[in-house]
Parts: sequence; C-alpha cells; structure tokens
Amino acid sequence: MIVQRPNSFWDKFYIPAILGGLAITFKHLIGKKFTIQYPEERVKHHPGYRGAHRLNKDNQGRIKCVACEMCSTACPANCITILPSASPIDWKDRERVPQIFEINMLRCIYCGMCEEACPEDAIELTYIDDLVSYTRSEMIWDKERLLAQFDLTEKTQPMKTARRGASMKALHGAA
Ligand code: SF4
Ligand code: SF4
Repeated sequence: MIVQRPNSFWDKFYIPAILGGLAITFKHLIGKKFTIQYPEERVKHHPGYRGAHRLNKDNQGRIKCVACEMCSTACPANCITILPSASPIDWKDRERVPQIFEINMLRCIYCGMCEEACPEDAIELTYIDDLVSYTRSEMIWDKERLLAQFDLTEKTQPMKTARRGASMKALHGAA
C-alpha cells in the first residue's frame, strides 16, 4: 500500500529542492569525471579484456593458422566456420591452411575459448571493442578481415606468446 506523504511547508515552495539538485550538479562538475570524449578518447582496458578477434601472422607474414579446427570445436557459441585446404607446396611446415575462416561476431560471446584451444597461437582476442556495422552480414568477419585486424593491432598488442616471453624474462631476468 502506498501512503501519500503530505507536502511540508518547504516542499510547497520547491526552491529548496531545486537548490539541492543544483548543488549536486555543481558538485559533480568539479569532481572526478567518469565519462570520456569518445571516440577521441578511449577506455583503457584491463590486461585480460576480450574484444574482437584477429588471426596472427608468422615472421614470414604468412597466416599462422593450420586449419586444425580446434577453435571451432571448442567454441560454445558455434560461431567459427573453417574450410581447410591443402597448404602451398613450398610451405613445408604444415599440411593445411584455411581456405575459409569466418567468425560470426554477433553470435560470439567473447569467452576466449578459441584462443585457449589454439595450438598455434594463431587466433587471439584483441582490445578492440567498437564493433559496428549497418548490416548483419558485415558482422561475419572473414579471413582477410581477421588478418587485417592483426596488421592493425600488431604494434600496440604484440602476440600473446611474445608478451608471455617478455613477462617470463622480467620475472627470471634475461638469460
Ligand atoms: S570467443 Fe568464444 S564464442 Fe567467440 S569465437 Fe571464440 S570460442 Fe567462440
Ligand atoms: S586458429 Fe588455431 S585452433 Fe583454429 S584452426 Fe587455426 S590453428 Fe587451429
């Protein structure tokens, strides 16, 4: 049951309530700001943040993925599609490469299981968090798009294997 509280003498003037509201507004004008001027300013993510994916390249600029399909098997959202094909004849280090590699970014839940499952460190989640498009089909990222993500983020986010190596060195000192 709602009990109606009768307005007091001061409530009927409204001025104290308005002044109280303005005091709160001015207090926040000079206090610490939690908003940022997006897109000029970006949020700094925590180290474990999981954003959009990328497909890594090796030191010869080739795709690292060997189309083993471990990531698509591990994916709980079933949003990775891989079509393997035979690797080029002069690629002696692998038998298969992905002919098609697609991730449905709308279905993805950004759990990172694909990254964990990959034996080649070929797929990684980046800090990129602004995923927008005009159509649903644009949100299905193909191999070229995922490799372009690597080019875009390589400098600011070195491959996690490199980062792990650097932190081990820092921990144990350079050998
Ligand atoms: S982050 Fe999770 S849901 Fe998204 S593609 Fe990887 S395994 Fe699938
Ligand atoms: S990204 Fe990794 S796990 Fe997925 S198919 Fe390629 S090599 Fe295998």
